[in-house]
Order: sequence, then structure tokens, then C-alpha cells
Amino acid sequence: MPILLPVALDQTYDYLLPEDVVGSAPDSPGGSRGVAPGAFVLVPFGAQTRIGVVWDAPFGDQGNPVPDQKLKAVAAFLAEVPPLPVLSLRFAEWVSRYTLAPLGMVVRMMMGAPRVFEPGKPRFGVQLNAGAPEPARMTPARQRVVKAAADGQVRAKSALAAAAQCSAAVIDGLIEAGMLIEVAVGERRFPVPNPTHAKVELTEAQAHAARVLTAAAEGGFSVTLLDGVTGSGKTEVYFEAVAQALEKGVQALIMLPEIALTSQFMDRFKARFGCPPLEWHSALSAPERARAWNAAASGEARVVVGARSALFLPYRQLGLIVVDEEHDGSFKQEGRVHYQARDMAVARASLGKLPVVLSSATPCIETHVNARTGRYRSLALPGRYSGAALPTVSPIDMRKDPPEPGKWLSPTLAAALNETLDEGRQALLFLNRRGYAPLTLCRACGHRFDCPQCTAWLVEHRYRNRLNCHHCGFSLPPPAKCSSCGAADSLVACGPGVERIAEEVAARFPSARLALLSSDLVPSLVEMRNIIKRIEAGEADIIVGTQMVAKGHNFPGLTTVGIVDGDLGLGSADPRAAERTFQLLHQVTGRAGRMHGKGRGLVQSYSPEHPVMRAIITGDREAFLASEIRHRQAGMLPPFGRLAALIVSARAKDLAELYARDVRRLAPPATRIQVLGPAEAPIAVVRGRHRWRLLVKAPRELDLQAYLRAWLATLPKPMADLRLTVDIDPYSFL
Ligand code: ADP
Ligand code: ZN
Repeated sequence: MPILLPVALDQTYDYLLPEDVVGSAPDSPGGSRGVAPGAFVLVPFGAQTRIGVVWDAPFGDQGNPVPDQKLKAVAAFLAEVPPLPVLSLRFAEWVSRYTLAPLGMVVRMMMGAPRVFEPGKPRFGVQLNAGAPEPARMTPARQRVVKAAADGQVRAKSALAAAAQCSAAVIDGLIEAGMLIEVAVGERRFPVPNPTHAKVELTEAQAHAARVLTAAAEGGFSVTLLDGVTGSGKTEVYFEAVAQALEKGVQALIMLPEIALTSQFMDRFKARFGCPPLEWHSALSAPERARAWNAAASGEARVVVGARSALFLPYRQLGLIVVDEEHDGSFKQEGRVHYQARDMAVARASLGKLPVVLSSATPCIETHVNARTGRYRSLALPGRYSGAALPTVSPIDMRKDPPEPGKWLSPTLAAALNETLDEGRQALLFLNRRGYAPLTLCRACGHRFDCPQCTAWLVEHRYRNRLNCHHCGFSLPPPAKCSSCGAADSLVACGPGVERIAEEVAARFPSARLALLSSDLVPSLVEMRNIIKRIEAGEADIIVGTQMVAKGHNFPGLTTVGIVDGDLGLGSADPRAAERTFQLLHQVTGRAGRMHGKGRGLVQSYSPEHPVMRAIITGDREAFLASEIRHRQAGMLPPFGRLAALIVSARAKDLAELYARDVRRLAPPATRIQVLGPAEAPIAVVRGRHRWRLLVKAPRELDLQAYLRAWLATLPKPMADLRLTVDIDPYSFL
């Protein structure tokens, strides 16, 4: 029987299935007889016992067949874990083939709730047995337990013992005496969203879009782009598709950029469907993850709202995927498996024959092109629902209107803030840079403080009083003396981060209430939700933030948005830099005036004549798209051409370089495929590892993966410390 192990291996292994083990197999979904593909097992692997997944056919290079008598046997089934649905197996294979990540690593992602697989985890908790008579012997310890359990909650034995400061034996004694009872935990059911809880009256354009979406859901696989400015009602429209899925009894997945898993979205969902959806994101606790995973597998989770990894849950019957803010960069995962969740969502939908909705006010170029060529259906929502006008955006030419020395806000922007405060409205200042200053210098000798392990400056974080590397996490307290020349008190901060902008705001507007939002300062999702709620309620006058503030929020009192550094992000070698800057600035300025109109965006720039800046300012999206699409086409860039990056790294610089050159030399000849490099990566060293990059460019219709696979097969095995990473459709070129 083929078994897949969730490790960095790209093949299944054959195991025997002893008769006495078969009996403990979990039921196949649908009740068919035999061992369900996707079932979880324990198998011997090397000297260890590991979890594996029953595969329905051998996968990958099987090598020479192993004679039966030499095969090892499956040790046991994890009978309490629901099997992965067959579609999940197919999806894992697809993702592995596409990304070139080993199948085992993809399946490992699908097991993103470790608690589910831990055998023998206590599945029972204890609860006060209401109505039971008090035992004759009530020691002080027993009294503390009863007091701690008085709220009727179910707790793990250990948690109750800790709360009552007693030993587990005391708890056991009370169970024996009937005072406490053991109950299964996780039995609490998720509430079921009600599709007709609070229907909204859609505008004509919205109703049309909703009809197209619901009609699409009857036709199997399809991709529909929902394109409309922020506030046009895209969410209301796709909620209709979600309602339809609920009525049909299939599951729906709404993918959001992680940052946008805001309470505001959850509140809206609840207002529409009567209860919150099931959430899936990195801030969940281990038991919450386990519960969510099981609920996706059982079908109990009717609507899942989650970040990119939610795509890999074992849905029993997925019937709809919505990718909201589909252009968002956070859908690209760079880890053990490099994948673009939006694109994988389309693949998942194609396998499962279900509709996908891609929603955005600034769809990515790839999606635009697909919509224009008819591969995707396209729906446009004109204008904001509230009728509020879009903000007027104007540039501030920093060459003509510079800030005072040591300041970052130009007189024009400062004046606009003043005005906004006088009107009793909110203003938002956006700078996509965490910390206080991106560079620290020694005034005496010019020494720059950089990371000992990376090609990167240390970023000063003044609230935390640390110098941090944003690439590896290295940090140290700001030194009292220059580490190079020994001069005392000689450190100068260069350039602004959000903390420094907040400092300037506090100095200029001492009576304004300031909110500073930066991912490093807001440790938890809960806390972030609280801050956002307070801002919504008008408890801040000026908000300073990184891209955390750019997405998904609706601040009713906000009328003025200032972009501190509009040029940030332009002028790099990244083919998507212009697009990303356009999207980000559009999203941020779009926060202004959502309720009452009269919003304005002010963009500080040293090159307001740049085409991206001009497009943002004039609001001429079509002109921007046309020029960007032409540029991509001319350069054979995505989606007209396909890219893959090969990244070689090693601790020793020459080892990395030599191997990268070997890799290049062994590239199979191909007339229509270009291999660029190797070149030292722009961030040449990260965590002490030297990095070299190759970029592979192929025409769209060519099978880039097949080419890469043939190539990789000829490479010498990277020696101990060498690493070769393949990134299909790269988004980072650093
Ligand atoms: P988008 O997702 O395009 O940004 P939303 O769906 O969030 O737009 O709509 C913006 C605001 O307008 C929300 O507060 C939403 O509740 C409201 N809205 C949109 N359409 C309607 C409608 N047909 N009826 C009532 N409110 C609506
Ligand atoms: Zn570093």
C-alpha cells in the first residue's frame, strides 16, 4: 500500500497492511468498504515511527521494487483522525508538480493543526457536576477546586488543578466522589450561518453582479473577477454567492490577506449571516486549530474565513472560493513551499469543479489580462455605494515644497493636517517602514551599523530601544559608543520610519490624539482589533501606520490621507514594483472620505512626473494598466512569460558561487528559454548565508516545470551546507 510521509520527500513508499491493523481503519467517507485513501497511519520509517497518509496510487519515482518479505508494515491507523479527502490528495499532487516542492512538504502543510495528530491527547475535560451532593470530606484543596469550577466551564484536568493550586489527585478524588464529571472537549458546535438572516437590498449593478455569480455556481469551475472601487459593495455581492453555497449545503472559503482578518469583517459577516464564520489564521491557538481542522473535514465548518493556508484545509465539500483583495502580496508564501495562494485557489477550484471569485479594487496585472482575454469572467461595480465621491489625490513636489531639516512632513501636508483637526475629522499618515529610522550612523567616523549576519542595515526601534535586523531578527541595544571608532554619544538616526513620523506629529500637534499602527508594536490580533475599533469610534485624531492600515478598514471620520514617501517601492528591479506601488497608494488614499466624501489624498514625492505617480494622481487606472500591460508584454514578463527563480545559498561565499555556476552550466539547451545569472542576490547575505540567484524566463505556453525538473535531475547533489531553492512565479527578487 502506498504511503506518503509528510517530510521533504517527493514520493510514496510501499508498506504492507497486516490484517489485524485493517480492522482499526477509520470509516471511509460515504461508507464505502476498505481502507480510505487519505487515512492517517503510523509507520516505521528508518529508526522512527512517523505519521503517514494512505495514498491511492504510487506517486513519484518508485525505484526498484522491494520484495514483499522486505516491506515494512503499517503499525496502526490514527482512527480518530478523519482521512484527507481524495480531492486533497489530488490538490497536493498538483501543487507539488506546479511548485516543484516535494509532495511530502505540501501534505505537511495540509496537516497544519498538529494537535489533531497527537495520539493520546486528552480529549476529555472536567466540569462541575451540577446538582451532585457535596462529598462528606471537603478539604480546603477540594473547596478551591469547586470554587474554580463554579462557572460551569469545561477545563482540562491540569488547567483546573493549576487554577485551584492543587494536585491532579485532588481532581481525580472529586471525580470519584461524583462532584466533577468528565466530558468530551471540543464538542461545542460551530454555529451555522443563516443565508437569509439579514438580506440587503442590492443596487441594480450589484444585483446584476450577484446574479452572474450565483448563475456561475451552477456551472462547475469558473473564475470571476469582481472589480470595483473600495466601497462599491463587492463584499455584499460575494456574500450573495456565500449565501447560495449555504443554501446548497456546500462549504465556502473566503480568503483574506492575513492583516485584513479584521473584526470589522467578522462583524459584517455576523450582521449578514447571524453568526461569525470559522476563522483560520496564524494567531489561532493549538486547540482552536485542531477544532477548525476537524470542522473543515467533517463539513461542520460551513464558511471558513482565512489567510492563505486556509486553502489547504481538508474540506469535505467545498463549493465556493472567494479571494478578497486578490492582488495582495501576502497571498504569496515563501517558506518550505513557495506558492501563490490566489493561483492555487484557481487550481483547487478547477480540480473541485467549483467557482472562484477574485475581488479587488486594484486587480493584479495577471488577473486583468486573464479577464481581457476571456479566460476569466469580469464584473465591474461602478462607484461607491454611499455615493460618496472618491478622494481627490494631489501630489506634493518635495523638491519645491521641502520639509524643514530633520522633519519629514512638508508645510503643505502639515497645513492639511491642521485643517483636518480643526474640522474635527481624522487624518492618516502612511509610511511603509517599521521602526524609527532605517539607518544609524556614527557622526564621528561615518560607520554604519549593519547586521553581522545579513547585507542589511540595522533599523532603530526607539520604543523598544533596540537596533533590529528586519531579515534575520538579530537585535542589540543601541550602543553608547560607536563600535568602530569608540566615540561616545555619536549615533545619528538617518531617514524616517513610522515611529519617527509619530514623534513629529506629537511635536507638531501636541493636543491631537495619536494612534500608531505597526505590526511590531501590536503584538496580537486581538489587540490590533481593539485599536482599530477605537479608531473607528473616533478615539484618535491622527493615525500613523505601515501597510497594516492600508487594508480592509473603514474609518468613518477619516478625510485626509497623507503618503509620507510616495516614491518608496519605485525604482527597483522588481517587475511588479510599479503595480504594487499603484495598488498600495490607491488602497491607502481610498481610505479617505468613505462615508461622507470630501476625502483627499496627498502624496509626497520627489518625482511626481513618474507615470505611476501621475496615474494615481489623475485616477487614470486604464492608462496605467495599458502602459503596464504593454511593458510586461514587451519584456515577456508575467503573465505573458513565465518566471522561476533558483536561489543557491551557503555559508561559504565561494561554495555558493561555484555551485550556482555549475547549476548554470548544466541548464539544458533550449532556444526559447532564457537563463539569467547567476548573480549575487541584492541582499547578498541573509542569516550568514551567501546567496546567488538565477532567473529563468519562458514563454507562457512552454512547460517551464518540465524543463526545470529535467535540469534539476542533472545537478550534483548540493553538499552538506549548500541549499538550492526553487521559486516558481517569484514575487521577491531580493
Ligand atoms: P467593497 O467590498 O467593494 O469595499 P463593501 O461591500 O464593503 O464594498 O461596501 C461598502 C459599504 O457600503 C459597506 O458599509 C456596505 O455595508 C455598504 N453597502 C454596499 N452595498 C450596500 C447595499 N446594497 N445596501 C446597504 N449597504 C450597502
Ligand atoms: Zn540580519
